[in-house]
Amino acid sequence: KERTFIAVKPDGVQRNLVGEIISRFERRGYKLVGLKLLVPPVELAKEHYADLSSKPFFAGLVDYMTNGRAPVVGMVWEGPSVIKQGRIMLGATDPKNSGTGTIRGDFCLSIGRNIVHGSDSAESAEKEISLWFGGKGEV
Ligand code: ATP
Repeated sequence: KERTFIAVKPDGVQRNLVGEIISRFERRGYKLVGLKLLVPPVELAKEHYADLSSKPFFAGLVDYMTNGRAPVVGMVWEGPSVIKQGRIMLGATDPKNSGTGTIRGDFCLSIGRNIVHGSDSAESAEKEISLWFGGKGEV
């Protein structure tokens, strides 16, 4: 069964969009199999965004995810083509290019505050699920 890691970032939590985002995945028919609210440790955020470590916005991105002004909601969703469909439901990385009807296209405008994260491949889904979950009794 295919699984993906979806996170509501601190801006999405702060703006009370957690229920909206969960609802969209539920109504589509996907199954919620992991859920946690946390302020991620710096090391976790750095590992999660390791591919972006050379980017000029990396330090700001890690700080934003970890500074604790709002937590992150980490989720694992399961179902047919959930990795690809999840990315479609999120919309383009830059909300200025996200279609209406997508989460980013409906709720945000700034790439640095784009509300949600979703795994972009089977490989990153597996890596991210074990990074954010994978403790005792977790998915
Ligand atoms: P995510 O991994 O969050 O789902 P993505 O895979 O669509 O996003 P990436 O290119 O991997 O896009 O970028 C990861 C995140 O880094 C983006 O979602 C955004 O929050 C942040 N980011 C990307 N580009 C910029 C930028 N130019 N300025 C600020 N933040 C950026």
